[in-house]
Amino acid sequence: MSYRIPLSSVSLSQLEAQHAQDAISSGWISGSGNYVTHFEEQLTHRLNRTHAIATTNGTAALELALLGLGIATGDEVIIPALTFAAVASAVIAVGATPVFADVTEESWTLDPDAVRSLITPRSKAIIAVDLIGHPCNYDLLLQCGLPIIEDAAEAHGALYRGQTVGQFGVISVFSFHANKAITTGEGGCVATDDQALAERMRLIANHGMHASQPYWHTMAGKNYRMTNVTAAIGCAQLQRWDELIAARNAVAATYRTAFDFNARNRQIQDRPTASWATPSCWLQCITVEQAHGVVDQGRRNGIDMRTIWAPLHQQPAFRDYQHGPCLVSERISAKAILLPTWSYMPAPLIHEVVATVLQATDLLAQEISARRHLL
Ligand SMILES: *Cc1c(COP(=O)(O)O)cnc(C)c1O
Repeated sequence: MSYRIPLSSVSLSQLEAQHAQDAISSGWISGSGNYVTHFEEQLTHRLNRTHAIATTNGTAALELALLGLGIATGDEVIIPALTFAAVASAVIAVGATPVFADVTEESWTLDPDAVRSLITPRSKAIIAVDLIGHPCNYDLLLQCGLPIIEDAAEAHGALYRGQTVGQFGVISVFSFHANKAITTGEGGCVATDDQALAERMRLIANHGMHASQPYWHTMAGKNYRMTNVTAAIGCAQLQRWDELIAARNAVAATYRTAFDFNARNRQIQDRPTASWATPSCWLQCITVEQAHGVVDQGRRNGIDMRTIWAPLHQQPAFRDYQHGPCLVSERISAKAILLPTWSYMPAPLIHEVVATVLQATDLLAQEISARRHLL
């Protein structure tokens, strides 16, 4: 079903079109070429890293990070219960076992105490997700003593204590899916400062094939390469990074003003921000009572808003895996809504979304109090 106001939309300019056309004209359209090289170089500058490897998508990047760290069958990887499912699926894809830890109320990201309580001799890594534009508490997570894979797929441009996300895990991962803040359509990357890790990941991503000896394979690899056409679009998006992130954050600011979170004593609140974080908008996220009712109403009105993910440990695909108590994840999941958001989303559409949410919450509140009076 298509909505009058979609959940997200892309901002593509002449620059993306020109670069893509140039890649096509060059004949270099598969997983190597100047644009791939340039895209990776530009990523290292943007993320303050020494190595970056472009991948087919963010999920492949997560798998590549796990394989790079040598994680395999019998190993456990601690991940948040509250996140997009690809994080758990990637762990399972490499044969390892996801273990779900709770998040904190203040940040909605991994709770370092919860992580510590789930560490066993089989624990090999943590995947720290910078959830909905908000960085994790890296100082505390690093003290847990396990290698951290930072999943910054939803947090392009966010800062942890003033420093850009994507440089805190031993490996960081991004997605460039069309609904992310910077996009190549489908795409992703891993980044690291560890040269040996970078070489190993590049080898895995490229069929395990020796860099200068074609068809000589030193390991059984994968093909996770981003195409040159995709990277060409990515180069344009990286050139426009500051502009696109600012435009997205401007949409979040318009939402904040329109909802008037602080002034009104409404049941509607913004996603919280922890003291260490300078978030960057991915999708505007709010919490409301009756989240499902509000979303149903919005969708009936042609607005593609969504309740946030159900906690992973409660979903059919992941129910059989271990988890700690995840009460905070469950509470957030029951009240959080993702609203339509994209760079340059027109203000009238933002105001229409806000009006619809306000109307739906008032209506549902009235229904509840009417029912109370009947009792
Ligand atoms: C989008 C997303 C991914 C997956 O990225 P794809 O490019 O869609 O494969 C992984 N982790 C998180 C947190 C995401 O939001």
